[in-house]
Amino acid sequence: RGGQAQREIQFAQPGSLTKVFAIASGKGGVGKSSVTVNLALSLAKAGRKVGVVDADIYGHSVPAMLGVADARPTQVDDLIMPVPTSSGVSVISIGMLKPRRDQVVAWRGPMLDRALVQMLSDVYWGDLDVLLLDLPPGTGDVAISMGQHLPGAEVVVVTTPQEAAAEVAERAGTMASMMHQRVVGVVENMSYLPCPHCTPEGKEHRLEVFGSGGGDRVAQTLSQRFGYDVPVLGRIPLDLSLREGGDSGKPIVESNPTAPAAEALTSIADRL
Ligand code: ADP
Repeated sequence: RGGQAQREIQFAQPGSLTKVFAIASGKGGVGKSSVTVNLALSLAKAGRKVGVVDADIYGHSVPAMLGVADARPTQVDDLIMPVPTSSGVSVISIGMLKPRRDQVVAWRGPMLDRALVQMLSDVYWGDLDVLLLDLPPGTGDVAISMGQHLPGAEVVVVTTPQEAAAEVAERAGTMASMMHQRVVGVVENMSYLPCPHCTPEGKEHRLEVFGSGGGDRVAQTLSQRFGYDVPVLGRIPLDLSLREGGDSGKPIVESNPTAPAAEALTSIADRL
């Protein structure tokens, strides 16, 4: 923006009433984006005004999961209008900033930084109660930029029960703390698969597809490291309708709200 002063990031202002949560993970494929969209919808259902920034440069799957895969933001004067969804959540994605959808985001740090700032300051968010940021997995440039521009953001770490996932998730959590952001808790996703062949009466048989203990391990390690309590906010089972909900743009908390996975997500949202 030639010579023009950069617009300030409203969420970083001292008087901002918007709670900002970054959803982080150590590696991809653990369900970070699924958790982000379902938390967004749960919070919206609870009456809050919610925005989502999809900053996952590798995945940017949030618009599809919210049913607005092909939507492009409109522009009013020099402000970008976030894409509204049927559930009342507004979304902007790093994928929407590319000229073409099939283009690969191969940006270096400064470009990513500019994209993040653009999504935070050039987008007309209005008065939000909650802003969720879907971060790329790991501890890269976007996490550093986010820490610099949104020092007050709180971080939710998503992991699976698996040892290897937990170890990298701890690093993502530590990164947040190095940027002086508070880690509010850990979400363990894909915790178990309720055995579909067991009768609903009697004790449910749970298949621990990805082992067990990852969520507790990350929570304990981060609590010890930071000197404050980092709780496990909830455990989400594997659920076919969660995957289907993501693929069809109707997240499980909306399409199948009584499923245990949806209830777990709703109660995590209640704790934020
Ligand atoms: P990430 O953002 O960490 O890369 P995604 O949210 O894109 O992960 O999830 C990866 C895949 O796993 C998606 O197809 C998603 O639908 C599926 N998935 C995530 N969590 C669950 C779950 N609890 N049960 C079933 N499928 C899940």
